[in-house]
Order: sequence, then C-alpha cells, then structure tokens
Amino acid sequence: MPTWYDAKVLKIENESPNTRRFWVEVAQLEQFDFKAGQFVTMDLPIGEKRLERWRSYSIADAPDGDNVLEFCIVKLDGGRATTYLFDEVEPGSSLRFKGPDGAFVLPDTIENDVVMICTGTGVAPFRSMLGDIVNSGKTTRGLHLIFGTRQAEGMLYTSEFQALQAQLPNFHYSVALSRENDWGKLPQGIDIRHGYVHQFYLEQYAQVRPDVRFYLCGWQNMVDEAVQQLTQVLGYDNRQVVTELYG
Ligand SMILES: Cc1cc2nc3c(=O)[nH]c(=O)nc-3n(C[C@H](O)[C@H](O)[C@H](O)COP(=O)(O)OP(=O)(O)OC[C@H]3O[C@@H](n4cnc5c(N)ncnc54)[C@H](O)[C@@H]3O)c2cc1C
Repeated sequence: MPTWYDAKVLKIENESPNTRRFWVEVAQLEQFDFKAGQFVTMDLPIGEKRLERWRSYSIADAPDGDNVLEFCIVKLDGGRATTYLFDEVEPGSSLRFKGPDGAFVLPDTIENDVVMICTGTGVAPFRSMLGDIVNSGKTTRGLHLIFGTRQAEGMLYTSEFQALQAQLPNFHYSVALSRENDWGKLPQGIDIRHGYVHQFYLEQYAQVRPDVRFYLCGWQNMVDEAVQQLTQVLGYDNRQVVTELYG
C-alpha cells in the first residue's frame, strides 16, 4: 500500500503568465527522499472516481535532504486539476499525494552526454536533475537543455539556467520560441531561436554518436515527434532515447 502524505502549501509564485511554482512541506517527514526526475501523484478533490481525481506532477527541485518539494504547474484552459490548483489552492492549503514514483532518472554514474528536450513545464524534472548535478558534482559530461515554448514570457527558470551556463562549463542552454513576434527584448546570452525544439538536436546531433542519451519530457506531440526524428530520421538506437509523457 502506498503511503499518502498530507502536505502543506507554503508558498506559490507566478513563473509565467500561466505557470506557477508551488512549494509544499511534508510535515510527516523530516526528509522526503526521491531521485531527481521523479514525480508524485496528487489526489485532488475534483471528482468521485480515483482516475478523475489523480494527477501526477514532477518534482521540480533537486533532492536536498529536506521535506519541502517544489512543483511547476501550467494552468490549462478548462483543465480540472489545474483550475483547482490555481483557483482554490493558496498558502496554508493541504495537498494530498503519494510517491515518489517514476524511472525518468539519470544513471548514478553518468557516462554519456545528456541532452534534455522539453516544452513548458516538461522542464521540471530537468531542473531537478541539473540541480542534483550541481549539488553532487557528479558529472563533467556534456549537458544540453533544449527548452521550447511559444513566447519569451513562457520561458521558465530563465535566470537560473543562464547562471548555470556560467557556473557549469559543460552545460548548454537552448531555447526555441514558436510564436514570439518581438525579438527586440529577449534575455541576453542565451541561444534563442524561432521555431521548435527539434531544430537544435537535428542540427547539433545529426551525426549519430554512441555516447549521448536523449531525455524527452512533455506532451505527446513534441515527445512523439522527437522520438521519431531521433530514431527514424537520425538513426539513434531506441535505447538512447528516454521519455516522460505528461499526457
Ligand atoms: C508523470 C507525469 C508528470 C507530470 N508532471 C507535470 C508537471 O510537473 N507540471 C505540469 O504542469 N503538468 C504535469 N503533468 C500533467 C498533469 O498530470 C495533468 O495532466 C495536467 O496538470 C492537466 O490536468 P487537468 O486536470 O488540469 O487537465 P484535464 O482536465 O485532465 O484535461 C487536460 C487535457 O488536455 C491535454 N493536455 C494537458 N496539457 C496539455 C498541453 N500542455 N498541451 C496539449 N494538451 C494538453 C491532456 O492530455 C488532457 O486531454 C504530468 C503528468 C505526468 C503523467
């Protein structure tokens, strides 16, 4: 039987016009153990049946030995869980969840370059993994985060990833904006291009290498297309591509 936790919401902040960061404290535990990249499943009061109520959310911060977790959640128009989380939940509210679960994690010893490809809040597990790598110093292999969203206002954790580029010489951050019209005032020092995430790996990993692993996280359209391009078009082995599907 899984253990359910009743966590208290400590703080909520807007990260973009439709995305919020939620910090929750699991007071039952001194330390919430998880691996970077894992998720929890919340039981929200939005339906009668279990499947109507349960939603999974990736843990967005790195494991750091405390009992506070961060989530990064996008509000969907008409989405039942996210309407509840954005309209009803406030600091002091309780959130019930079980976990951690999931195998979307990096190996203990990272022997290959890691390319992380995501759209929107699909960045959450990668922020956790990158924070873990910074805390542990566990690899000097190449780390490439490829993030996609529509407009610059939808970029998430931008200043952190900018800072990480300066801190970790092996880290590279690329951004694809599919619908940005105002290219005059974008953040500086970032490889930002018009279009979709696919252009970056199609260009930079076109020559198949055995020593690279691709981690893809987000919604079906992006993940399916990236798997197809990497394996069918470029010719990477399926075992070099690891996915986490949000829906
Ligand atoms: C392992 C896992 C981890 C997840 N982690 C996160 C996370 O960290 N942050 C986060 O915001 N979400 C995350 N999700 C998605 C989350 O579980 C919910 O599905 C999401 O919040 C929508 O719930 P809802 O009840 O508001 O929408 P619903 O009422 O369930 O309706 C949403 C509908 O829209 C589709 N949909 C949802 N989002 C999109 C999108 N962006 N683009 C296109 N179609 C979409 C869904 O497939 C569904 O058909 C995760 C999902 C999984 C399986």
